[in-house]
Amino acid sequence: MIFRQLFDLETSTYTYLLGCERTRRACLIDSVASELATYVDLLNKLNLNLIFTFETHVHADHITAAGLLRQTLGSKSVVHRDAGAKCADLLVTDQVLLQVGDLDIEVRHTPGHTNGCVSYVLSDRVFTGDSLLIGGCGRTDFQQGDAGQLYDSITRQLFTLPADTLVYPGHDYNGNTVSTIKQEITKNPRIGNARKREDFIAIMQELKIAYPRFIDQALPANQCCGLAADSL
Ligand code: FE
Repeated sequence: MIFRQLFDLETSTYTYLLGCERTRRACLIDSVASELATYVDLLNKLNLNLIFTFETHVHADHITAAGLLRQTLGSKSVVHRDAGAKCADLLVTDQVLLQVGDLDIEVRHTPGHTNGCVSYVLSDRVFTGDSLLIGGCGRTDFQQGDAGQLYDSITRQLFTLPADTLVYPGHDYNGNTVSTIKQEITKNPRIGNARKREDFIAIMQELKIAYPRFIDQALPANQCCGLAADSL
C-alpha cells in the first residue's frame, strides 16, 4: 500500500493519500481545497490515479477539495448519506465496503460530532475524522452534534477494533501524528479509562469552545463539495 499523511497548517487538518501498488488507483481522505496543487503534484510523482475523495464528514473548519479534484481529475466524491452533501457522487452508510484497487475500505457510521460522520477502516488502521482525536474527540455543539451518540460511536464502533489498530485522526493541534485504539481506550482523557456515558456527556457540555472561525464559509461550501452552489 502507498500511504501518505499530509497536513494543512492553516487548519491543522490531516489529509490521507491511500494508493494501491498494483493498479495505481488511489483515494484521498479529507482533502483541503487550498492544497489542490500539492495533491495533483504528488499523485503525478507517485504515478497514481485518483478514483475517490472520501469525506469523514461535512467540515466546519476547512473547505474540501472534492469538487475541484472531481473537475480536475475525474474522481468521485464519497460522503455519508446523512451528511447533507447532495453534490456527492456516492452516498454511503454503515458497513459499506469500498474498493480502491486491491485496498478494501470499510465504512463505519460514527455520528455524534455531526450526524453524518463516518470512519474508514483499512486493514491495520482507521481514519476517524473528528469522531476520535488523539487524546480528544470532536466537539458536539454544532451540526446536529450529540455527546451521547458520540460516546456510543466511539465505544461501539471504534474501541471494538483490534487494540493495535492505528488511529489516524482528522486533526491534531499538538503535533501528534498517530495513535492506537489501545492508547485511546486507556489514555484518552475524555472517554478513555472506562469513562461512563453520563460523565462523558457532562464533560462535553462543560467545554467552552469558541465559535468555529470558518464555519459560515465552510459549511455551505462543503454541502456543495467545496464549490460555489451555482457552479455545480
Ligand atoms: Fe469537524
